[in-house]
Parts: sequence; structure tokens; C-alpha cells
Amino acid sequence: MDINGWSRRKYLFAAGSSVSALSGCSERIDAATENDPSRDENSPNREPYQLQPGTYNTIVIFRNDDPQPGFRSEALRKVEEIFIDTAVPLTSGVIPMLPDNKLTAESEFCGALRRRDRRVPELFEYSLHGQTHQTKTNFYGGSEFGGRSFEHQRQDISRGASQLTDCIGRRPSTFVPPLNTYDETTVQALLTEDIDVVSGGKWFTDQYYEPQPLPFEADGALHVPGTHDIVADWQTVEFVPLEELKTEFDEANRLFVCMLHYHHFTDEERLRYLEKLVSYVADHDDAGCMTLGTFGDAYLSGDLTWSDNSWDYAPNSEQEES
Ligand SMILES: [Zn+2]
Repeated sequence: MDINGWSRRKYLFAAGSSVSALSGCSERIDAATENDPSRDENSPNREPYQLQPGTYNTIVIFRNDDPQPGFRSEALRKVEEIFIDTAVPLTSGVIPMLPDNKLTAESEFCGALRRRDRRVPELFEYSLHGQTHQTKTNFYGGSEFGGRSFEHQRQDISRGASQLTDCIGRRPSTFVPPLNTYDETTVQALLTEDIDVVSGGKWFTDQYYEPQPLPFEADGALHVPGTHDIVADWQTVEFVPLEELKTEFDEANRLFVCMLHYHHFTDEERLRYLEKLVSYVADHDDAGCMTLGTFGDAYLSGDLTWSDNSWDYAPNSEQEES
């Protein structure tokens, strides 16, 4: 297929900047230029991120839950910088409406997300992470949505989507349910907001639906559950040993959806852990990194197909063939 002379990774600084080609999901960028204080924060300094057409053993999605105003914003900035420096996409599930802290377009939090989003187009996706992130039912151990009426779920999703749209400046197209649980009524409610990609937890979908190859389509949506988690123990917030998680990535086939929570990255040791993990994944040529939304779009449109134990990514293939 003609890829119009695209560079290997098609994620480059704007003209005039040097690029060093590495293997894996990404191009490295020039950190010195990126951190230049004279640079205009509002103007993009790279072409939009796009996965190179080709064949991949594994698609990788990093899912960062819980960004919210007024809570460890420095940790969020540092986590996002790791993904900028490695040029690996990151999908963040943003909480739109904490009980005493709603997202507003004018807030410092939303301004910072929009600035980073503009600087590195298509690298970040901001997904809808529930509405208030409160546990409202006992559904599968606790849920904000599962087990509630359609009308209540629809109302909360609609309000949350509006808040997030005001904050980011575009509508969310994917949903990350708090506590990783949801039901078929949640999916019906999401579809009324044109959200047709949902990422809960694999432990949950294995029970509520059934264990099956990922992703899977059910109830009119694409389900892309988190398959791995950086946290090993939620009592102590101890991380999975890095070498163990690398081995799990090496052994992953098809999908590696790695969950993290930015607010755990409050010291240099943990930030270095994340940097090493993301760099390790990025350096694998057979892994393709995408956001949840671009993965969902590509899968549902047929641009990304799974056969013979590998992914074939051929974006816009229909137009090129016609
Ligand atoms: Zn959460």
C-alpha cells in the first residue's frame, strides 16, 4: 500500500526540527526544544500523532484514570510529559463533576489540558470517566452506573459529557466507567450521546459478558476493557514489579490495555518506573500504540483488522482503493 512517503512513525516536530528515528510506537523528540520556555504553548509543535500503517502483534492503549481539578495536578503534568517525551498516546478518563468541584472551561485545570492537547495533537484523548465518580450501587462490588435505571444513567452521562465538552472543547467519544463496572443499560445510555466505545475492566467483562477475545462488540458498542494494571495491591498501592509487567507485555497478544492512575506518580522513583515501562513498549516495532478512541474508530471502520494472529492497520484503505 502506498503510504504517501510517510515517515516511519509520522510523529514529527514541525519543519526545521531534527528527528531521530527509533523503533517502536514512537519517534523520540528533542527534549531541549520541547522544554524551551520561549516556545508558544498554544501552537502545535508537531504533526498530529498517527500510528504508521502496517502489521502489529499487539495494540497498546495506556489508560490513565481520574484526572480532576485540584488534585495532584503536578503529578498529572509529569505523567503527561512522559508520554509527550516518548511520543506514546495516552487516554485519560477525566472525572467531570466531583460533588464540590465541577469542570469549568475557565479553570486552570481545563486550560492546562487544552494547552497540552494543542501542543501535541492526537497524542492525548480525554475520555468520560463517569459523572461524579461516586459508588451508587453494589453492582459487581460497586458501581456508579450498573444497576440503575436508564433515565438516571442517561441523565448522568449526558451531564458529564457536556461538562467535559466545555472543558476540552470537543465531545468525548469513549467512556471509562468508574470502578470498571457498567451494565447493558449504561451502554444504551452511552449510545444516546454517540459514545460507542467503553473501557471497563477485563475481570468485570469476563463475568458480565463472558471471557472472549478482545475487543468484543455487544449491545451496540465496542468493549475494550483494561487488561493490565500497574497497581498490584490496592491496599498498599504497591506497583507490579517492572520486570514482571514487561514480561506480561511481552506475552500479551492482541491487546495490552494498561491502566494507571496519575495520582500515584508522586515521587521520582515512580515516575522513572513509568518512563521505563512506556519507553520499553515504545521500542517494540511489533506493538502499535493508540488512544482508546482512535483504536475504536479504526476497529469499527475496518481500518484495523485482526487475522492470522496479527493486526493489519490500513487507515483510509477504502478511499485509496476506490
Ligand atoms: Zn476512577
